[in-house]
Amino acid sequence: MQLSPHFTLAELTASNKARALGLDNTPAPELLPRLILLAEMLERIRSTLNVPITVTSGYRSPQLNRAVGGVTSSDHTQGHAADILAPRYGTASDVATMLAPLVSVLGIGQLILEGIGGKQWVHVSTHAPEKSINRVLTITDRGAQPGIVRLS
Ligand SMILES: [Zn+2]
Repeated sequence: MQLSPHFTLAELTASNKARALGLDNTPAPELLPRLILLAEMLERIRSTLNVPITVTSGYRSPQLNRAVGGVTSSDHTQGHAADILAPRYGTASDVATMLAPLVSVLGIGQLILEGIGGKQWVHVSTHAPEKSINRVLTITDRGAQPGIVRLS
């Protein structure tokens, strides 16, 4: 199912972990409108970066979310969040640095540069956090810091 011109439901629900564990990662039908809003936000990010985006994790069923853990993961179970990379644009740090001043324009509720366990990615959500101070963050194995702090 196509959610937006460049993003499909399959892409926003794909999970190697779910496949490996035999978990069903199909979202409830009532989450589809949220996933469409998420895909529309990803379209705006794609247009801004002017390169294709890879979604490394989108919707996560509660079971899958438990299996992968993660501090910012609840938005994934609600269909509000995606972890992305844009290799043709640059590193996760490059993408987060580019997007940080544009969160309001692009309708990004929360932007997080994450560098955990030797991997790096950019978490974006359509869902505004209750504390707007947490809107743009960098999270590493050492904890969370406000703003985007480039990762090496
Ligand atoms: Zn995430």
